[in-house]
Amino acid sequence: MKRTVAIFGAGPVGLAAAAHVLERGMVPLILEQGDAIGHAVRAWGHVPMFSNWRYNIDRAALRRLEGTGWQEPDPESHPTGADLLRDYLDPLGRSLEPWLRLGRRVVAVSRDGIDKVKDQGRETSRFLIETEGAAGPEWHRADAVIDATGTWFQPNPGGAGRPVPGETGNARITYGMPDVAGRDRARFEGKRVAVLGGGHSAVGTLIALSNLPGTQVTWLCRAQTSARAVGGGAADQLAARGALGTDLGRLVDVGRIKVENGFRLTSVETGASLTALATDGRRVVADELVIATGFRPDLSILREVRVALDPALECPPVLAPLIDPNQHSCGTVRPHGAMELAHPERDFYIAGMKSYGRAPTFLLATGYEQVRSIVAALAGDHVAAARVELCLPETGVCNGPGPLASEPVQAAWANRLANTEADTEREAAACGCATIAEPARAEACC
Ligand SMILES: Cc1cc2nc3c(=O)[nH]c(=O)nc-3n(C[C@H](O)[C@H](O)[C@H](O)COP(=O)(O)OP(=O)(O)OC[C@H]3O[C@@H](n4cnc5c(N)ncnc54)[C@H](O)[C@@H]3O)c2cc1C
Repeated sequence: MKRTVAIFGAGPVGLAAAAHVLERGMVPLILEQGDAIGHAVRAWGHVPMFSNWRYNIDRAALRRLEGTGWQEPDPESHPTGADLLRDYLDPLGRSLEPWLRLGRRVVAVSRDGIDKVKDQGRETSRFLIETEGAAGPEWHRADAVIDATGTWFQPNPGGAGRPVPGETGNARITYGMPDVAGRDRARFEGKRVAVLGGGHSAVGTLIALSNLPGTQVTWLCRAQTSARAVGGGAADQLAARGALGTDLGRLVDVGRIKVENGFRLTSVETGASLTALATDGRRVVADELVIATGFRPDLSILREVRVALDPALECPPVLAPLIDPNQHSCGTVRPHGAMELAHPERDFYIAGMKSYGRAPTFLLATGYEQVRSIVAALAGDHVAAARVELCLPETGVCNGPGPLASEPVQAAWANRLANTEADTEREAAACGCATIAEPARAEACC
């Protein structure tokens, strides 16, 4: 009997996982909460991607699409989220239709008939997956599970991990990356808009807002200096991402964007307008507040399986040191796969954006390598699972200590910079590729 691999989420990584599962002669069961594939990407379709097509297409998916009349996009051009859907995910989704169950939100996964505490028979019992949706509650069974549900639908709140007073349910607050130039334009044009956050979502939103006529833009930057968000620049190997930082720096310099550095939100007052209050007593008055402070995984669905997660980042423990924002600004992450992503629950994996937990930066290319390796492991091909088949570009923004870095880490980083050349060679050897870009300067880091 063929093994069934349940895949939670039909985002780019879930769909890629399904392509790999089919190539390995197993059966995917793709459970997606939305009415269409790429439900999260649809929400940020207006966003220009900072990685080009070369890094956005999975290889098993490519093999699946070849021969269907599909036209491969120019590898060097940069799609928007909407392009990613139209030119890649939608055709891939159509090719996977027989295995796709839309409108099914996974609410729980467990071992069939075995509760979390019980050892006996655990590894031989199948997974039982409960979904909710228009069709009502359903129960599905599978031999293995890949949870690729992303983090998009769980934005971080404006406080330190928790919503501040006045935040919850506030109609003047938007999360993530609103479509400032399109769908949501009327909400922001000609208004006073404050943006809280310092990652790429905040940066992209700030730039988009500054293009709206009559909109006054204030950047509430939690860091003491905005230099890191502006960093990257020309040193960033992903040129589109570097350009974002450069643009932002220019807009700040010419006064188009007002910056409030070291702004730690403590509460929000709402009347005729909104006032954002900082812990140091500063008050910023605006009509709208955008909170772009990142995302977090939904772990509630995993309550009945044995997962091991880093206590801070909520990602697999082995992955944590590689992507820890205390140590890296963006995570100079070596390609990794089944071994690093394994949990105590056999044949259960978290992949894609969700595998990074609360760590901020994730690349599709990393996710594709994850699921290639995971599916190889599930198929019993442990040699292929252990092999590294990905060489990531070394980016300027991934080459420095992170915003929370302690002094020893800063010192270690300075030491590392002194050994740049040796590092570069080691990295090239580690990922088995002939060339790898030189790490950039630490000050080029976000
Ligand atoms: C604005 C933005 C721009 C980005 N740009 C880039 C870029 O340029 N390059 C790059 O490499 N990466 C980029 N990323 C990062 C990352 O590659 C994307 O977030 C990517 O979409 C992650 O893919 P995923 O499949 O892991 O998760 P998602 O795309 O988030 O897909 C998860 C899917 O799971 C579904 N789901 C969620 N919960 C459930 C549930 N309980 N049951 C069933 N289904 C569920 C969702 O509806 C969704 O369809 C960007 C991210 C964002 C937010």
